[in-house]
Amino acid sequence: MIDVEQHGSVKVIRLARSLLGRPLYWTAAYWVDGLLIDAGPACTARELVQVLGQVPVQQIAITHSHEDHIGGLALLRQRYPDVPIYASRHALSTIEDPARLKLQRYRRLVWGTPSPVRGVQSLDEIADEIRTPEFTLRVIETPGHSRDHVSFFEPRFRWLFCGDAFIGGRDIAWTPEFDMFSIVSSLRTMASLRPERLYPGSGHVRRTPLADLHGKIGDLIQLANEVLKLESSGYSVHEMVEMLFRGEPRIHWWTFGHFSAAHLVEACRTYNALVTPGDLASLAPRDRRGRTDDLADSSSTNRSTDPGDWRR
Ligand SMILES: [Zn+2]
Repeated sequence: MIDVEQHGSVKVIRLARSLLGRPLYWTAAYWVDGLLIDAGPACTARELVQVLGQVPVQQIAITHSHEDHIGGLALLRQRYPDVPIYASRHALSTIEDPARLKLQRYRRLVWGTPSPVRGVQSLDEIADEIRTPEFTLRVIETPGHSRDHVSFFEPRFRWLFCGDAFIGGRDIAWTPEFDMFSIVSSLRTMASLRPERLYPGSGHVRRTPLADLHGKIGDLIQLANEVLKLESSGYSVHEMVEMLFRGEPRIHWWTFGHFSAAHLVEACRTYNALVTPGDLASLAPRDRRGRTDDLADSSSTNRSTDPGDWRR
């Protein structure tokens, strides 16, 4: 299933496997001035190549090596053998050998398995700058969602193609690979660029990116603060999942536990240990009868562990 929308000079190409005529999960590729950003999953590669038949494709750049962003590359390489493909140096080994992704069954079903692609060039080779006839995009390192994640920023129009470095909506389940410290740092880097358009991996183009980015930073830090409070009161991860999320969400079941609220709570604990180790030690465990007050307390404030953060 494919859905194409034109946003000024940028073509938003949303791709998804469909089940009974409905999309399972949208992933976006973007085309701007001969540059294709991301390649979508393997299962929609033919549809992507078909749509690109209407426009020139002169170069391809990849935000990160997850299967829903690199799966279309093998067919694109066949169709455009001379077109350079760029990715972070950290992503090259996975693109050449996607078995490294160790895809769980649900991932193979939803997105398909990428085929190996050789000859992908490191973005280092072009000094982290992609030039098209009209635009220049700077490479910004935005790890956290994956270690090899980069975003592409066009400073003149302040467009930011950010892959999965920004995922909209309230976080309720993460995989164990997500690194909160790097995710928050990358979101801050992205906000510091003051983008005017955000083009994320979902294809849901954001017209108020700064508010969205600061909102996401604030939400994550607030959640980390809630976890810090609950942990200092002696609650277990399982209890925190019940109190903060009313148990595991549905995605936990269909991903066989790869995405889970418990992983998100664990990510908060790791983050807290890094940024507020003193607080953890100084907060003496309190009487467990105070549990409802603890939660109400922490939810009602927007206090941040970092005075630089703010929310809208
Ligand atoms: Zn991803």
